Amino acid sequence: MGLIRSWVESANAAECLFPLNNLPCGVFSTGESAPRCGVAIGDFVLDVAGLEAAGLLELDGGPLLDVPFWNEVMAAGPSVWAALRAQLQLILGEDADEHVRDECRFFMYELADVALHMPFRVSEYTDFYAGRNHAFNVGTMFRGPENALPPNWLHMPIGYNGRASSVVVSGSDVRRPWGQVKAPDQALPVFQPSRRFDIELELGAVVGMASEGPVTVAEAEAMIFGYVLLNDWSARDIQAWEYQPLGPFQAKATATTISPWIVMTAALEPFRTPTPARELPLLPHLQEPRPMLYDIALEVGLAPEGGPETIIARTNAAELYYSAPQQLAHHTTSGCAMNTGDLLGSGTISGPTKDSRGSLLELSWGGKEPFAIAGGSRSFIEDHDTLTLRGQCQGAGYTIGFGECTGKVLPALADPYAR
Ligand code: MN
Repeated sequence: MGLIRSWVESANAAECLFPLNNLPCGVFSTGESAPRCGVAIGDFVLDVAGLEAAGLLELDGGPLLDVPFWNEVMAAGPSVWAALRAQLQLILGEDADEHVRDECRFFMYELADVALHMPFRVSEYTDFYAGRNHAFNVGTMFRGPENALPPNWLHMPIGYNGRASSVVVSGSDVRRPWGQVKAPDQALPVFQPSRRFDIELELGAVVGMASEGPVTVAEAEAMIFGYVLLNDWSARDIQAWEYQPLGPFQAKATATTISPWIVMTAALEPFRTPTPARELPLLPHLQEPRPMLYDIALEVGLAPEGGPETIIARTNAAELYYSAPQQLAHHTTSGCAMNTGDLLGSGTISGPTKDSRGSLLELSWGGKEPFAIAGGSRSFIEDHDTLTLRGQCQGAGYTIGFGECTGKVLPALADPYAR
């Protein structure tokens, strides 16, 4: 499939992140106006809530866009998702007549002039650990190369239940957390600001359709509305002390940042790619009936306060060992119900090479090998650093972009218990 041409000229540029093929879903506001649902097209955001209210967009069961989040559309299911895209591709397509264009122009705002908000209400947040290279690297550092991959790792996507309350939208500042840490050579733990604050480059799957009881991998795939970039901020010193035996807890609870646009699965369809070869056969209920990963080029930028950004890692979502449908299916095996708005983090996506590692922990190998950035070096995040994730799929003459997933780390506050 090639570029679908739009009368919005900026949407037709090969490097534009938001061509008519994409149509990602966000929530925006202008000036003092209340946040509302919008779709990105070229250099603009189209106020689809306004379009629906004006009768220019008709969705079964509507109105579905009269709320400042996409959950109602997500819950309406794949036929409504497809109808939304089809209607938008008609009215924004190059064959739309002048009257339709004028109506649309009334509901368009320059992206540069709007504020972006959380695109959906996060029901619950689960974080997986589905990157083979990341799991091996971290396991090597925490437990040694012999025990790097836990014995269950090649048989199921490992995850933990995170906190929906911690999920914030791109652009939100992140405060360096305090926590309990204990170095291996210390007898007792201390309570102090994290000194090993980190990112995790992940892809987030957004569950549209709810489920009750176990679902197959194919059914799970049909439940997914779309994907976001996700930075699972991680305090490694807190994590190393707290994580056994129940997994990460406060190390991951400070914040998780998502990109402001949900890229619908339909936009990613041309970029489908298989999971890597299985090192051990999976049980039948976790096997994929067809390729369910996507070829999404990913990068991480780090910019110190007032300094230039350095790209510190480049990798690809195709490095994941388990796809989101496999994670989601596994999540339901116990009978666990899933809800509209559930968010699944993929786990850190690291490639096989040193410059493709999706966390500073891996890039600096636990702080032992600081890496260079413009004008300095880093082992972990320093105060006032801005970390930015980007992702895009390269089509023939067009690009599917996610927009930036960015956050600046602010210094820890004074001891929160010193009163
Ligand atoms: Mn994570």
